[in-house]
Amino acid sequence: MDGDIKVIEHPLIQHKLTLMRRKETTTAEFRSLMSEVALLLGYEVTRDLPIEPKTIETPLMEMEAPHLAGKKVVIVPILRAGIGLVDSLLQLTPSARVGHIGLYREPDTLEPVEYYLKLPEKMRDRDVIVVDPMLATGNSASEAVKRIKEFEPRSIKFLCLLAAPEGVEHFNDVHGDVPMYTAAVDEKLNEKGYIIPGLGDAGDRLYGTK
Ligand code: URA
Repeated sequence: MDGDIKVIEHPLIQHKLTLMRRKETTTAEFRSLMSEVALLLGYEVTRDLPIEPKTIETPLMEMEAPHLAGKKVVIVPILRAGIGLVDSLLQLTPSARVGHIGLYREPDTLEPVEYYLKLPEKMRDRDVIVVDPMLATGNSASEAVKRIKEFEPRSIKFLCLLAAPEGVEHFNDVHGDVPMYTAAVDEKLNEKGYIIPGLGDAGDRLYGTK
């Protein structure tokens, strides 16, 4: 743990994150690396999903075998960069539902403004994983989690790739009850709200928009 965020320090994650940070890394490479890292992070984030025994038959005999209990996971990417983490998490939990929340940062104040929200029904039965590659000021993540909490899900977690200490502190102040996971906590934010040293604008690097 680093502060109140769990830093997943697997060597494969750290190596791939380094490749993502490099400015020479192409859009195609960046996108593929994000999927690979999301798969590895997802393994840790889903570690405590509830399991229940069910009777199955192997070719040799009947047995009580563990199954994931229910189909209750909802992955909620914060648009647009959060989308880059979704496919890998769906590979791990194919029955999961996907909600979406769209927030943009007001350029002067860096405050989040919601422009889209679509969640599945019966949120009270569901375990939510909110995903965004970058936890910078923490404003967007905190606002997203605040909105999703209004639907009273069974549990909620936040997953990012890279965090700034300022974002971790802010998120923890507002949502101390929500576990956070990341691959690394960087040094600081710059005056424009970018994570330093960071990897640049995750959305632009994913989608090649700059
Ligand atoms: N969002 C990004 O994509 N990058 C940052 O460094 C901060 C916020």
